[in-house]
Amino acid sequence: MLWWGLHALRTCGLVQEIILIVHPEDVDRARSLLADAPPEITEKVVCGGAARQDSVRAGLEEVTAGTHLVLVHDAARPYLRADLIAACLQAARRTGAALAALPATDTVKWAPQGPLVQRTLDRAQVWLAQTPQAFRFSLLCEAYQAAARDGFVGTDDASLVERLARPVELVPGDPQNLKITQPEDLALAELIAQVRGLAPPGLRSGLGYDLHPFGPGRPLILGGVHFEAAQGLVGHSDADVVAHAVTDAVLGAAALGDIGRHFPDTDPAYRGADSLQLLAQAMGKVRQGGWEVVNVDTVVICEQPKIAPQADRMRDNLAQALGVGADRISIKGKTAEGLGFLGRGEAIACQAVALLHRLAPTSSEEAPHAHQPDR
Ligand code: MG
Repeated sequence: MLWWGLHALRTCGLVQEIILIVHPEDVDRARSLLADAPPEITEKVVCGGAARQDSVRAGLEEVTAGTHLVLVHDAARPYLRADLIAACLQAARRTGAALAALPATDTVKWAPQGPLVQRTLDRAQVWLAQTPQAFRFSLLCEAYQAAARDGFVGTDDASLVERLARPVELVPGDPQNLKITQPEDLALAELIAQVRGLAPPGLRSGLGYDLHPFGPGRPLILGGVHFEAAQGLVGHSDADVVAHAVTDAVLGAAALGDIGRHFPDTDPAYRGADSLQLLAQAMGKVRQGGWEVVNVDTVVICEQPKIAPQADRMRDNLAQALGVGADRISIKGKTAEGLGFLGRGEAIACQAVALLHRLAPTSSEEAPHAHQPDR
């Protein structure tokens, strides 16, 4: 997050000095980001204070003397655009103080004492403040001195200037200039990163293949469905080629190895095992890795039995094991046209592809170094 904001400031062509203000524990990590600083920009890292305002003040103390304009930006807003930086600086050059802000699109209720509404504000008059906020350096220093003298604490820097009765100009902000505050904001942040080409799409595909020979005295189980047949497939487990191919496809998409790694056929625990249960266990590992199934498609290659009459039952079984709706699962039967060992009916093979998408982080997950909202 910090790098993306830093990158925007470095590449906008308008910034001569960047001061990163971070938690004392993060100083070393922040310094490591400065290793690839462009030579024309001075960059340094400063320890922040207990509150936001203390942090900005610590940063202002490090600004090179004689600087004309300063820009304050919240690193929790990584999707900063160069044109927004330019617009804020231009307005601050004109007015003395300027901030990016969005017009309110939701209706705004005034409820100073809790759940009961006192009145509805005219949303046409309400703007929601973002950063960057840009200031004449001397004006912002004056505003900080006055705030310190009066014990005033604001939730942004512009409010410190407003209380001096000096003009502050609104600059149309950017809805994608999202402030990542709560863990659930990360899901939206990730989408924005993908749309902007900053992060790879959260999609992965996997390929699975399995084959088992026919043998006497075995049940024939495909996709968890018991087929009426004279002989079944030979294997350490129940030899369900469809479940095995799908298991390898989902494990493969999540780069978690293959079925043999997780359920070795040398382990007596898996003798005659219900392969749908193994699939469900494998899917649990895939989900723990942060992935969920978009869809699975399979081709079952055999001369006998006929797959189509049982395809819906097989889909239901696989869908249940994978924890998704059956509409995401496809089963297709194909013969080998009498050719080769599959055509001679000596074995059944199955191919599967799985598409996974990255699970959105949920609010129950612990967010490392969660940013504290300014409330
Ligand atoms: Mg197998």
